Amino acid sequence: MLRHYLEVKAEHPDAVLIYRMGDFFEMFFEDAVRAAPILEVTLTARHKGTANETPMCGVPHHAVNSYLGKLLKAGLKVAICDQVEDPAEAKGLVKREVTRVVTPGTVSDPDLLEGKEEHLLASLAWRGEEGAGAFLEVSTGRFFVRRWRSVEEGIDDLRVLSPREVLVPDDGLPAGLEAWIERSEVCATSLEGERYLAAGSAAEEVRRQLGVATLKGLGLDDGEPAVEAAGAALAYGRATQHSELEHVRQLSVSRRADAMILDPTTVANLELFRNQRQGGRRGTLLSVVDRTVTATGGRRLREWLRRPLRDPEEIADRLDAVAELVEKARCRDRLRELLGGVGDPERLLSRAVLGTISPREAAALRDGLTLLPEILAELADLSASRFAVLGRIDPLHDLAERLRSTLEEEPAAQLQRGGVIAEGVDEELDRARSLARDSKRHILGMETAEREATGIPSLKIRFNKVFGYYLEVTKAHQDRVPEHYVRKQTLVNAERYVTDGIKELEERILDAEQRQIALEEEHFVALVAQIVAAGEGLTELGAALGELDALANFAEIAVRHDYRRPRVTGPGHPIVIREGRHPVVERAGGDRFVPNDCTLDGEGAQVVLLTGPNMGGKSTYLRQVALIVLLAQAGSFVPARSAEIGAVDRIFTRVGASDDLSRGESTFMVEMIETANILHHATGESLVILDEVGRGTSTFDGLSLAWAIVERLHEERRPLTLFATHYHELTELASLLPRVVNRTLAVKEWEDKIVFLRRVVDGAADKSYGLHVARLAGVPSAVIDRAREILGNLEEQEYDLTGKPRLARGDLPDSATPDQLRLFAPAEEVIAGIVRELDVERLTPVAALNLLYSLKKRL
Ligand code: ADP
Repeated sequence: MLRHYLEVKAEHPDAVLIYRMGDFFEMFFEDAVRAAPILEVTLTARHKGTANETPMCGVPHHAVNSYLGKLLKAGLKVAICDQVEDPAEAKGLVKREVTRVVTPGTVSDPDLLEGKEEHLLASLAWRGEEGAGAFLEVSTGRFFVRRWRSVEEGIDDLRVLSPREVLVPDDGLPAGLEAWIERSEVCATSLEGERYLAAGSAAEEVRRQLGVATLKGLGLDDGEPAVEAAGAALAYGRATQHSELEHVRQLSVSRRADAMILDPTTVANLELFRNQRQGGRRGTLLSVVDRTVTATGGRRLREWLRRPLRDPEEIADRLDAVAELVEKARCRDRLRELLGGVGDPERLLSRAVLGTISPREAAALRDGLTLLPEILAELADLSASRFAVLGRIDPLHDLAERLRSTLEEEPAAQLQRGGVIAEGVDEELDRARSLARDSKRHILGMETAEREATGIPSLKIRFNKVFGYYLEVTKAHQDRVPEHYVRKQTLVNAERYVTDGIKELEERILDAEQRQIALEEEHFVALVAQIVAAGEGLTELGAALGELDALANFAEIAVRHDYRRPRVTGPGHPIVIREGRHPVVERAGGDRFVPNDCTLDGEGAQVVLLTGPNMGGKSTYLRQVALIVLLAQAGSFVPARSAEIGAVDRIFTRVGASDDLSRGESTFMVEMIETANILHHATGESLVILDEVGRGTSTFDGLSLAWAIVERLHEERRPLTLFATHYHELTELASLLPRVVNRTLAVKEWEDKIVFLRRVVDGAADKSYGLHVARLAGVPSAVIDRAREILGNLEEQEYDLTGKPRLARGDLPDSATPDQLRLFAPAEEVIAGIVRELDVERLTPVAALNLLYSLKKRL
């Protein structure tokens, strides 16, 4: 056994090998040592205390999936070596083989997939300055490539797409990329030794998979890195799944420019799919906007939120469709009801391809297909252009018909017991089935006949697994047992017998049952082959139904939550939101939500500095603007009275308190890494949300950094920026830089309280707000007066003699006008200028006195 184990292990050195032994899957040596703590099982040993002591641990075979999940989550690959013959029939050692290799990037089993999340496998290739990544999702058949012109672009894409596993080519990758992969802790698989690459070139692999003669039609060149990466991904997928992956039929060349980019930090900060406290779904955008009725629709919705669109026309197409379903309530309800019964054709197809589809799942596919004609009829009544496209899907009549005629209405869960294929499909099958049934009845009928023949009233015919059907006679009647009964077993009170007649019938039953199951299996396998053959149609169907569900969902949400249709315009246009609301906070209960406006444009209000007291509502406002933009570009209505959105290419967020101490990086370091990312990648078409920068370091450090960052965003990158800050000093920037404006969250004093109005108004927060609060809180007035004095002193220090904030001294940005420059001349010069211009004759005594007073103050 161990020798065979070691042979298999040598073929899968980088995977944890789990080896079937009886009712357990066992792990040995380092695999056991590595896996035991992850699986939370005890590490034991074979041949304990001898020279051959072997560490081992095991898990029960029926629960293997939940254990597999844990290993995958820990980023490990698992090779499953199972029994491939029935131990009862085996002569000698039971034959075992690796039946599956499960890796974090290639899982397809529904039990192992985490809900509706993506599980991408990335395969990378690099040549000179250029590289590419191929991304494959085995569970759905999604397959696309991305081309990169720099390592940085590649890293950025990998961060955004967050694959579960990365294939590294045997000739290596640029050092920067390799270092990133190592740091990111993603499961990395090296293709060294071409263990996974089948014969033939990568281009050949891809052509074969897609069934095309040339890749030119996809805009791909045989020799380019994208094709190399795609070929490796396919080869690896096939090898690990032991399948031809027939559901992977399409490869798209996706461009970064097609979709809005949201990096993982932003996805986390905006709490799109997980909240930041416990990581659950509560309080997330998804929890508010997901009322999809199918798993496919749920996946599509996530994808739309994860990668909103950028092209205003495409967005308008989606919005048209949503608008129509908002209007037509009856049709919306009906469609959602029908979709709810359709199931998940994409995943069922992949189960069929991988040979793991169960009879019940096939029946679910049948039931789903049966609803299609009605869905298409509803679509025919709608006029938006997306519906016309969706209405052209092939309802797969033939497959539906075949499933209907072949399967039992409610087939058995497992094929091994029969009861899957309907009556009337196959005469021979029907005959076998009725023979088995009749013979059973016949045998039990023999009970009466035997009682009569022997005169034993308590004689029974029974069945057990050890010797099949038998006769049981109590001890009291032993003397009446006839000669031809053959004794099989003696119990305390009874004896068990068989007769030739019973055995004969029993054999007939067994034969008939075996025949029945074999035939059912045959028919089911043929049926699955037909499902697989309809793969392309099913994939298209799944995609169309998912889209339809997601569109109807947006309409449903709009009606439920009173969202309005946004107008999305081209990139670089302003963002103007009237009475916007935070989609999640407004539903959280609590106080009535106060809607707020927002205007951002590249001219007057490119950078909005938002000040205001703690708890004033700054963070909420920032996120609300980002979420409205995101929803609009995803094609959804938005929580606002009206919204005009100039499509953005990216939303960046930098939000305080995202400590990542577990990874050993200080808060401030994390803050700066995120900020650096923004400064490197933001463009004039991006939206940047900064919620406090520089808090994690000393005041002067932090303030200076924040100041310089705003200058840079204003001058160099010019993204639309919302910047909430507690550094009051920053509000001075509005007087220095033309495209910076101040806004604040209004508060009002009422009796002895500060009331947060939650309203965003022009201007900066009252600087001495803290003193107000202290006074209201009952801090002695002598202390408040002294504090006011000190504040006054500090404020005087803030400006130099020319009235310019001291903080800003240094080279002025290029945009400063000569007029502005004059402001920075020495005070004497300014005063000389004023005196020079003065018309002394027309000056009244009081004016003269005032002037003198102000000149002196300036000095
Ligand atoms: P800040 O970032 O200024 O400290 P937050 O954005 O965290 O303030 O908001 C503080 C509290 O006020 C939150 O609990 C939030 O629910 C509530 N809040 C924020 N904005 C509004 C609003 N527009 N209407 C009603 N409540 C709001």
